[in-house]
Amino acid sequence: MRQDAVRFLAALLLGCLSTTVFAHRYDIEIDPALALLQVRLCFAGAAPASLTSGSPRAVGYISDLRIEGVHSGARAQLRRGRIQLQNIPPGACLGYRVNLDRITDNRISYRSAGSRLVDIRTWLWRPERVPARTRLSFKLPQGVKVAGPWPTVGDQKHTFWLPDTPADWSGRVVFGQLKRTAVTVGSTDLDITLMGDFDRGQIDDVRTWVGGAADNIRRVYGNFPLADAGVLVVALVNGYGYEPVPWAEVQRSGRPEAHFFINQNAPLQAFINDWTPTHEMAHMLHPSMEWRFKWVYEGLASYYQNVARARSGQLTQQQAWQKLYDGFQRGLKQARRGFGGYMEVYWRGAAAALIADVTLRQQSQNSQSLDSALQQFGQCCFTPVTTWNGFAFFERLDRLTDSTVFSDVFGRYANSDEFPDVTPVLRELGIRVDNGRVHLTADGPWVALRTDLMTRPLLLSESQ
Ligand SMILES: [Zn+2]
Repeated sequence: MRQDAVRFLAALLLGCLSTTVFAHRYDIEIDPALALLQVRLCFAGAAPASLTSGSPRAVGYISDLRIEGVHSGARAQLRRGRIQLQNIPPGACLGYRVNLDRITDNRISYRSAGSRLVDIRTWLWRPERVPARTRLSFKLPQGVKVAGPWPTVGDQKHTFWLPDTPADWSGRVVFGQLKRTAVTVGSTDLDITLMGDFDRGQIDDVRTWVGGAADNIRRVYGNFPLADAGVLVVALVNGYGYEPVPWAEVQRSGRPEAHFFINQNAPLQAFINDWTPTHEMAHMLHPSMEWRFKWVYEGLASYYQNVARARSGQLTQQQAWQKLYDGFQRGLKQARRGFGGYMEVYWRGAAAALIADVTLRQQSQNSQSLDSALQQFGQCCFTPVTTWNGFAFFERLDRLTDSTVFSDVFGRYANSDEFPDVTPVLRELGIRVDNGRVHLTADGPWVALRTDLMTRPLLLSESQ
């Protein structure tokens, strides 16, 4: 055999090996009623000392926990919210069942039109750190599909790699008669999974409003922030009012995904007019942050839901400033009452975002902005597995922009109950307010900056 042929065969063999060598392996079976999960976890080499689901609630759903085969002294037992493992021989397998019908909270388990959505923290017991090449493989009843926030193994539709995102991060898997589509935004292909009974026209509509919202966020710095992100659209069965998107959120286990729970019969224009899709997509601009910094990430999303929609022409500049102003007023009202409610949290952060954006633009003669700072952060520092402390995030943005704007502005409001006063910034931008009505005037030292902010992204390439 010629030498290059030997080399070719050796490469082929190595290629085969590299796709078949797994770390831990999960084999998961779901029954036709989509109520019962049978999980088998086989360890590659030594088993970890314990497994976690990432949620204290999961102990209420698991049963029939056992080590397969006869291994004297091997034990698996639930203790202090974890599965404690003792004397597990290398290569042994653990089995357990999870009864999804025991879950009553719609946010972590939801059924519609022959499908089921479930939070992975209810059933995916895993080591604290997931070794590379850990694999999940689903065995499904006839006609049932599965979608989760994980990359598939090669072209196997029902087998996935399990990334090592933190155990307590939320993520969802869906089973049933799912439909799939995608939209391309800049250089990102956004996969869309639809759960529910969607006809072709409705799928086209979903692509239109999801693609539109993602495209709005592309206008923050010229590209969609993430190369790999997903979208899940769930048709609510009933009883959630008439808003097009009564509930939506971003989940980050596996990969970042925006989840929209919708009234699918609402007209397309209602979805396009709704701020929610753009708000959720805006969460792709920042990393996971500790819960106590919720006001920061909700603020960034609330700020950009208006700025990005103005840039795409969905809102006029006047409307966008009015919406920001109205939001600040709602937040201020709650802050004055000492209420500490949702409006205060969201709009306190949005006010800080406006002040930081304008200050950075002023200090840099409009060569830097919140847009370019987030773009730089995305390029250097975004990892899909890290939860950031807010102060570390502000310091990193300072370092990237060679300023102290983020620690000064966000740091100040992180350490006090004070609601940010946007009055001086609005005045400088030539924005006058009479009886709650915003007027855009030519009278202010930074009027040109006001227009820039609402009309175009400030790209790094322009500022360098
Ligand atoms: Zn949000």
